[in-house]
Amino acid sequence: MPRTLYTAEQIRARVVELATSLATRFPADDTPHFVAVLNGGFMFLADLVRAMTRPVTIDFVRMTSYGSATTTSGSPRIVHGPGTDLRDRHVVIVEDIVDTGLTLQALRRHLLAARPGSLSTVVLLDKPGRRRVTVPVDLVGFRIPDEFVVGYGLDCDEAHRNLPYLGVVAPPS
Ligand code: 5GP
Repeated sequence: MPRTLYTAEQIRARVVELATSLATRFPADDTPHFVAVLNGGFMFLADLVRAMTRPVTIDFVRMTSYGSATTTSGSPRIVHGPGTDLRDRHVVIVEDIVDTGLTLQALRRHLLAARPGSLSTVVLLDKPGRRRVTVPVDLVGFRIPDEFVVGYGLDCDEAHRNLPYLGVVAPPS
């Protein structure tokens, strides 16, 4: 089994803190729009929006995966969504983990083209040591070293997504 990095209880407490910080970024009567990246972001999104004490709307995007081929120059592309008009909305990207930054960079560019009122980014995990592009991230759950993380939505060849905690395994070969 994966070695525990953060327990379900630690994650729960941090997600509440993130939701509280996020709430201060929008006018009190606003309904922010949360856009989560599939598949890894689904559990984080579910907990984050339940910790918000105001109405929100949600949507999902799916990006092309480039697997572990981080040496390719190809930029990830959106293959599904978003399905909502983002113009003038306060939009929040919800991502499981920012690694090289390429996925987030491509998604931000795509969403900014839809002219949202604001665009914030919240990531559960940040591996700053692996960054290849500079991309703004407003809120980070946990900063972690370069280890391969699974659980709480994140997989290793589709395994371990349903673990309620975050753990570390050997990276897929
Ligand atoms: P980036 O474009 O920032 O390099 O990659 C982001 C994506 O890479 C994440 O959404 C995730 O799918 C994948 N990824 C990067 N590091 C890890 C990790 O430690 N564990 C898992 N399961 N996926 C990762």
